[in-house]
Amino acid sequence: MTVELLSNYYYYLKEKKAEGKKIIAHMAHDNLPEELIDAAGFVPLNMIFAGNDELMNSSHDYLPPSTCSFAQSCIGLFSEKPNNFNFLELIDYFIVSNHCVSDICASEIITKYFSIPRLNFYMSYTLSENALKYYELELKDLKNQLEKIKGSEIKEENLNESIKRYNNFKKKLLEVNNLEIKGKTKLEIFQKAMLYGPDFLPELDTIIQNSQPQRSNNLKELILTGCSIFINDYLIDLIEESGGNIVFFDTWIGDNYFSQIFDDAILNSKENPYDLLLYRYRNNVGGDHMVPEYLENKVTKLEKIFQNYKKKTGKPLGVINHIIKFCDHISINSAFLKEKLQEKKIPILNLERDYSRANRGQLSTRIEAFIEMM
Ligand code: SF4
Repeated sequence: MTVELLSNYYYYLKEKKAEGKKIIAHMAHDNLPEELIDAAGFVPLNMIFAGNDELMNSSHDYLPPSTCSFAQSCIGLFSEKPNNFNFLELIDYFIVSNHCVSDICASEIITKYFSIPRLNFYMSYTLSENALKYYELELKDLKNQLEKIKGSEIKEENLNESIKRYNNFKKKLLEVNNLEIKGKTKLEIFQKAMLYGPDFLPELDTIIQNSQPQRSNNLKELILTGCSIFINDYLIDLIEESGGNIVFFDTWIGDNYFSQIFDDAILNSKENPYDLLLYRYRNNVGGDHMVPEYLENKVTKLEKIFQNYKKKTGKPLGVINHIIKFCDHISINSAFLKEKLQEKKIPILNLERDYSRANRGQLSTRIEAFIEMM
């Protein structure tokens, strides 16, 4: 699937470039307004490819191995030759943002050593009035940077249009989220959707219409939280082979992305589209590491999913907290998350790993033991 997906994506981006569109790549996990890039007539490219030794190890000329494996892999995407990611040659600009230290370092290295012009977008990840003002300034600054490339103004009506397009797209992903299909199938749909954006809507409609329930009576049902599973990663296969099935992806490739939607009343109540983006920032209380109370909000959210699922199906869910090695903010919080969920009698496994295949056996044993214990 991956080779075909990447090859088709190359031709998709090529067509977009032929239409005169610029490709804007970014590693940001949330709060980055893809709609603004879309409204400028450009294509946002989510860097969601990682999961094997080769990409991870190809970065070591640039970053020490004590950087998170995902950030290492993002650099590996550019330094490994040859590779399956030839669409990266089509990138025109790369956004440097500050989701975490690894994000900044990897983005800066990619722009500097692989000669990709950079755009900047920073935020405070704090929910306060001053943070909101700062976010507004950054939105305007990103708008100015995009307008400079475009050579003309980004009209508010175009931004409004893009916000609606993305909103409908994310609502459709929420429908996919509710389908009774295997976790791997669901994840592949989310990954593909995040590459193609709202252009993927017709395919999503077809998927939903043709979807048949895939029963998994012999598998234990799970929530995945923490770090995302990226394109090229074997983890989802490993979980299913070990007897688990992810029914809810509480990760950036998953709920954190498509739950950021506006209801119609909000959408129609704000004339200025930037107010909508500010509204979303203000309400992103469960966004990765938003201060304050991100962790408390996460515990509440996971408990709600657990209870609702139990009520609906009579079955308990287990939680796998996926921690990519050296991902500081997920690993720092993992002990607290474990303690709080265990207090609520919700089984949780903190699964820390890098992408090396040598760990496969050990990971599989840990997942199997957890599932057995459930
Ligand atoms: S996986 Fe963690 S450390 Fe790595 S880029 Fe994402 S948030 Fe940052």
